[in-house]
Amino acid sequence: MIPWVNLARQHASLADELAAATVAVIRDCDFILGTHVAEFERRFAQYCGAPYAVAVNSGTSALHLALLAAGVGPGDEVITTAFTFMATLAAIDYTGAHPVLVDIDPESFTLDADAVAAAVTAKTRAILPVHLYGHPADMDPITDIAREHQLAVIEDAAQAHGALYKGRKVGSLGDAACFSFYPSKNLGACGEAGIVVTHNAEMAEQIGKLRNWGINRTGDPDVKAFNYRMEGMQGALLNVKLSHLDDWNLRRREHARYYDSILGGSPWHAAKVAPHVQHVHHVYPIRCKRREQAQQQLLDDGIETRIHYRTPVHLLKPWSDLGYGLGSFPEAERAAAEVLSIPVSPDLTAAEVEQIGNALKKLMEKG
Ligand SMILES: *Cc1c(COP(=O)(O)O)cnc(C)c1O
Repeated sequence: MIPWVNLARQHASLADELAAATVAVIRDCDFILGTHVAEFERRFAQYCGAPYAVAVNSGTSALHLALLAAGVGPGDEVITTAFTFMATLAAIDYTGAHPVLVDIDPESFTLDADAVAAAVTAKTRAILPVHLYGHPADMDPITDIAREHQLAVIEDAAQAHGALYKGRKVGSLGDAACFSFYPSKNLGACGEAGIVVTHNAEMAEQIGKLRNWGINRTGDPDVKAFNYRMEGMQGALLNVKLSHLDDWNLRRREHARYYDSILGGSPWHAAKVAPHVQHVHHVYPIRCKRREQAQQQLLDDGIETRIHYRTPVHLLKPWSDLGYGLGSFPEAERAAAEVLSIPVSPDLTAAEVEQIGNALKKLMEKG
């Protein structure tokens, strides 16, 4: 069976380096923030082409603090996509602001910039584009809308470490960008972790305080805040893995190009790449008219699949209070009904990728 992701294989290939990093953290008792986290912040900011990075304990915390540092709070509206992981919405809720959802562009699965423009009201404070599946959202029109209405732009880059938009890394395209290092993400910790990347010194300082009880240089808190600190162990392990991220993303793109060559032009082909972006294929979706059968057939051929996401966020029970319903966002609903994620992880062997390719050919023949 080919699993959807095979982290054990990745960790086996890095076993000595990961073990040495773990030993160093325990030896130095460098458990919370500390030198390894500071080094990772420096390196990840540089990787994204931004001057500041503030490490936190999850991607969700990163989104929460970036929104707070952008001044988002009760009474404000934040525009985001109806097709994302629920953490995007939850983070808006934590600030007390009201999520305003828009539909997606069906080619990129990212939020539709025209719909964003139409959703702006006097209460809008920020736009939260999600680089879903590793495909950057169309940032130029979104940035134009933000500039016109003086809104903050916070990128949800949890699935897009290393992706490029018009030659620029995600993480450097808005006021701040939020990454998750959940273990199965393109860059994954060995536990929970996240980071905010920004060009804005004030936001970086504010987020640095908010993650650590609001404490200023004297040791007293300036504001009521959170315990959202990254663990030293995660920083040390991420330092090992960051050196491999570009190589892993390259492998994902190679796998994706091979699947594209099989599916291209057919209705199954969903992972389209806009000409001005470099996709990092966190997820490789296909579109299925009869998804259950397709999923079963791939399983019979030894391939595990996942669904990202079965229900668009506006139809999830906890957000029924937003007042949306079936039909509110037709493209998000169609995507949720049709997509199926096939394995695209860098840990796949050439033989496994070929096995997946053959299974896709069979799927297309059977219809
Ligand atoms: C994973 C993910 C998050 C949340 O990250 P955590 O580290 O799990 O808190 C947020 N947004 C998107 C789009 C994600 O995929």
